[in-house]
Amino acid sequence: MKKTFVLASHNQHKVDEIRDILSDLDISITSLSDLGIHDEIIEDGETLDDNAWIKADYLYNLGYQYVIADDTGLEVDALEGAPGVYSARYAGPAKDSQANMAKLLKALAKANDRHAQFRTVLAVYINGTKHCFEGVIRGTIADIKTGKGGFGYDPIFIPEGYTSSFGVLSSEIKNSISHRGRAIQAFKAHLVSKL
Ligand code: IMP
Repeated sequence: MKKTFVLASHNQHKVDEIRDILSDLDISITSLSDLGIHDEIIEDGETLDDNAWIKADYLYNLGYQYVIADDTGLEVDALEGAPGVYSARYAGPAKDSQANMAKLLKALAKANDRHAQFRTVLAVYINGTKHCFEGVIRGTIADIKTGKGGFGYDPIFIPEGYTSSFGVLSSEIKNSISHRGRAIQAFKAHLVSKL
């Protein structure tokens, strides 16, 4: 029987991206909104792993045996991995991307090293058993914002091997090399080896 994974997110963009990458497998993905679950899961962990498992465990404890949860952070080398797990709220609880980018550019104003990475942790339950996958994209933090595509820190993140930010690059290019895309591909490779 076709298995349905519940994705612990209200973000339709993530649902679409995951559905797209896994579309050739015999599984389906449903979101919290599809299930009528409108709860705001409190992500108060201290690491990306903690937060991904808080979300996955929440659904597992509701009785779901097939669950996917993700958590992502921007980890800047010169800031010893900050903002990391606090990326969404770096400049305050409003989760304002413009304020977050302004704060980061200020923090790096005098930095010689602008290397950074996006890292996604995927916490997954497959038939009630825990699995963890990770995806990383290295790059640099630009001096100024460019482009209007994407979201979050995309206008100031230039992925390795490119000269333009994620805000300028097409979503096709971004999804093919991104942290989240790579984590989902690792999950897919695992599923393929089991199916
Ligand atoms: P989340 O765990 O996917 O909600 O990501 C946490 C925060 O990391 C977001 O609010 C963004 O600020 C940032 N972030 C995550 N993924 C991306 C991305 O693909 N591009 C830019 N910023 C991102």
